[in-house]
Amino acid sequence: MNDCRRISRRVVLTSAALSLGAATAAAVVSRAVAQQKISQADAKYQAAPKADQRCDGCLNFQPPNACKFVQGDISPSGWCQLFTPKS
Ligand code: SF4
Repeated sequence: MNDCRRISRRVVLTSAALSLGAATAAAVVSRAVAQQKISQADAKYQAAPKADQRCDGCLNFQPPNACKFVQGDISPSGWCQLFTPKS
């Protein structure tokens, strides 16, 4: 095998390894960010609605009883200061 072929294969393999490493790192960071939720106290969460605003009408609600941004059990009829109405 001549030197050009050997170098070319090395470049291809190194590039593939770097790409895989970057993709893996991005996935880990993304998962870590997704797992960070704030406490119910910090969100000023309450188990009752605020006027006509309720968790089940919020963009961040994850049925049956979770929220994208707030920790713990979330009641569909609850509310917090991060309320974001569905369209
Ligand atoms: S009102 Fe607050 S706790 Fe309820 S779903 Fe929306 S962001 Fe989550």
